[in-house]
Amino acid sequence: SIQPADRMAGLPEQFFAALVGKANARAATGRDVINLGQGNPDLPTPSHIVDKLKEAAENPLYHKYPPFRGFPFLKEAVAKRYKEDYGVDLDPATEVAILFGGKTGLVEISQCLLNPGDVCLVPDPGYPDYWSGVALAGARMSQMPLLAKNGFLPDYEAIPAEDLARAKLMFLNYPNNPTSAVATPEFYADTVRFAEKNGVVVASDFAYGAIGFDGRRPVSFLETPGAKEVGVEFYTLSKTYNMAGWRVGFALGNRKIVELLNLIQDHYYCSLFGGIQEAAALALSGPQRAVADLVSVYERRRNALYDALASHGWHAPKPDGSFFCWLPVPEGYDSASFANLLLEEADIVVAPGIGFGTHGEGYVRLGLLAPEERLREAAGRIGRLGLFR
Ligand code: PLP
Repeated sequence: SIQPADRMAGLPEQFFAALVGKANARAATGRDVINLGQGNPDLPTPSHIVDKLKEAAENPLYHKYPPFRGFPFLKEAVAKRYKEDYGVDLDPATEVAILFGGKTGLVEISQCLLNPGDVCLVPDPGYPDYWSGVALAGARMSQMPLLAKNGFLPDYEAIPAEDLARAKLMFLNYPNNPTSAVATPEFYADTVRFAEKNGVVVASDFAYGAIGFDGRRPVSFLETPGAKEVGVEFYTLSKTYNMAGWRVGFALGNRKIVELLNLIQDHYYCSLFGGIQEAAALALSGPQRAVADLVSVYERRRNALYDALASHGWHAPKPDGSFFCWLPVPEGYDSASFANLLLEEADIVVAPGIGFGTHGEGYVRLGLLAPEERLREAAGRIGRLGLFR
């Protein structure tokens, strides 16, 4: 019989794989399911990017193995975007790693930096893929609670001393999935001081960096003085350009960490298809109008959903960024039982907060990933359950 390696024992079923399976099973019964569960953008990639891929697919150069670590033009394009958007200088040759989606780097960084027995500080609630890398490295997690009263920012003073002594890596993610909070420059300045003092590497997950509402411009961790000395930022085209299926991501910043990620990637992949790299470079260096339009779409959806929910008695502060809504569950339910109720009684898929960690309990996450009329329809179905009067 097949005996898996011990390290596999720490890997649970991928949270979103399970959620998607549930939603699909429900839809397969013929029900009109509104899926706000997975963070999968529903809008298409802008057509100029798709056209570039079609054209580039004809280039025989790209039919061979791509160069290890990718084409320089893509690294240059992301470095230029960071300069333009955040005023951050990055050396494309040494401070940029191309990843197969941000997700691969977020898992691999733990394997690059953590030994068994080391501690990784993870936000709770937080994106579950951080845990997978820590489990595969045989390391241990120390949860940093993200509480509403602290603006969903971690309190570094509250980290248990024995965990801090062994901590080597910390994940941060703003605009935040799932709470939708946005970080301040002051928080990041504190973070650099904390990282320097305690010898902790910062992995800033900036997947939702482009999405800030009401005129907010989310700050990049790399804008903080000293940030490059202590960490890297993970950046992805998935959400900014509706390119989740293309699997293009980057690690940016600290040279040593970029080199480690490049090295581990050399063994797993040589790089992305060249045509994808060329189209990705165009996404970053071409017209950015589609990004601003996308943020307006999410902002209008947010307003439509929150106004409709409020009219049914479900009140919550509106998200500042990301495309997620983090809503408290009504009395008498926990996050899983409420998510189940919404699925069974209203054909709405949401992500239960407990899936993001113990401090996610008491909340559900709804994605702004359907047109406004569908979001209003969802709010109407929730209203008819009569739970919020
Ligand atoms: N980080 C966060 C917080 C996410 O929500 C996601 C995707 O949902 C990712 C990273 C993964 O991004 P990518 O598509 O680049 O792998």
